[in-house]
Amino acid sequence: ALELSDYDRDQSSNGVARLPVGLKNKRLRVLVTGGAGFVGSHLVDRLMERGDSVIVVDNFFTGRKDNLVHHFSNPRFELIRHDVVEPIMLEVDQIYHLACPASPVHYKYNPVKTIKTNVMGTLNMLGLAKRINARFLLTSTSEVYGDPLEHPQVETYWGNVNPIGVRSCYDEGKRTAETLTMDYHRGLNIEVRIARIFNTYGPRMCIDDGRVVSNFVAQALRKEPLTVYGDGKQTRSFQYVSDLVEGLMRLMEGDHVGPFNLGNPGEFTMLELAKVVQDTIDPNAKIEFRENTADDPHKRKPDISKAKKLLGWEPKVSLREGLPLMVSDFRRRIFGDEKDTQG
Ligand code: NAD
Ligand code: UDP
Ligand code: UDP
Repeated sequence: ALELSDYDRDQSSNGVARLPVGLKNKRLRVLVTGGAGFVGSHLVDRLMERGDSVIVVDNFFTGRKDNLVHHFSNPRFELIRHDVVEPIMLEVDQIYHLACPASPVHYKYNPVKTIKTNVMGTLNMLGLAKRINARFLLTSTSEVYGDPLEHPQVETYWGNVNPIGVRSCYDEGKRTAETLTMDYHRGLNIEVRIARIFNTYGPRMCIDDGRVVSNFVAQALRKEPLTVYGDGKQTRSFQYVSDLVEGLMRLMEGDHVGPFNLGNPGEFTMLELAKVVQDTIDPNAKIEFRENTADDPHKRKPDISKAKKLLGWEPKVSLREGLPLMVSDFRRRIFGDEKDTQG
């Protein structure tokens, strides 16, 4: 049975939407921090399609202008190079706060900066939301569950996180970001939403970000062996990016604070993932075992009952359907357009 905490329903608005009636039909001004990144740029595409005015704030640490270049000539679109660790003054109706490196290779590169981004960056965006009375959505992560002792993970699970490990800058950073978000909500009546995102893949992922899907796909395309860390029996659940974006928008527009797990419950071992990549790209791709990284969670799979019930959301794209869509993008970026024979 689904148990709702006091804060699952947004109480800051006392059940009455603070924004004008007909909000959904009105042209909104939306800020997307981290909008030049993988998830952010897909979200921006959907918001632009809907007719919103979109401002992207990004410091281009892992994001690229390339991901947004198709909007540059649109007067409804604005791109600001800015680091969210520094304050900023803007006027918008909604804030999607995504700015933060997401892959282990990137967030471990400068762990202190990762914490600053999560803590000071989130604080600044909440301060902004407070000043302009905007609705704020935090993209948190399944990593808040750490190496989970409950399986699958339900939102009520508090997690099993190492506070002093090499992943802590990200895990604990996001946990603190969630805390800040709830404290602004409870104490200052800010309208907030929290998404806990599980592993997501798709076009525009950084090719060399070290994440398992991007690694395997790039390796198979380059005729290199697929590097499986550890025994390859650890599991993850992989969500296609369009499903995530749909979930984020439903969460933002809905009446519930969350947190909500947004992920695909299909669970794969890394060896099974390697098999799907072989089937999709190259059946002869070799597998090479490597030593695993520290604190690697053994398994991860979202329980999405809450999002299904309260947001009417569930993923639509399976791994075998989604992977080819990403492969054609990677093929084009790795080899150039002329060799892109499969779209
Ligand atoms: P990404 O690295 O592609 O995008 C992050 C964006 O934030 C980049 O454009 C980067 O340049 C920008 N950024 C980083 N630090 C910044 C700063 N200090 N100031 C301004 N901009 C900054 O990663 P993504 O996969 O698109 O992830 C987006 C969000 O979703 C992140 O908050 C991440 O933690 C969360 N998330 C992603 C996944 C996933 O599997 N992709 C899983 C869980 C959570
Ligand atoms: N902030 C910001 N833009 C704004 C309003 C606030 O970047 O439009 C920053 C502000 O500089 C501060 C943080 O958000 O660092 C928290 O702001 P808040 O007003 O909540 O706290 P205070 O400034 O009172 O500590
Ligand atoms: N992994 C792997 N080979 C790689 C990269 C990662 O086997 O080339 C494993 C990694 O050890 C982890 C899983 O794949 O168990 C997912 O790693 P990723 O970095 O993609 O995401 P996260 O650990 O943040 O879920």
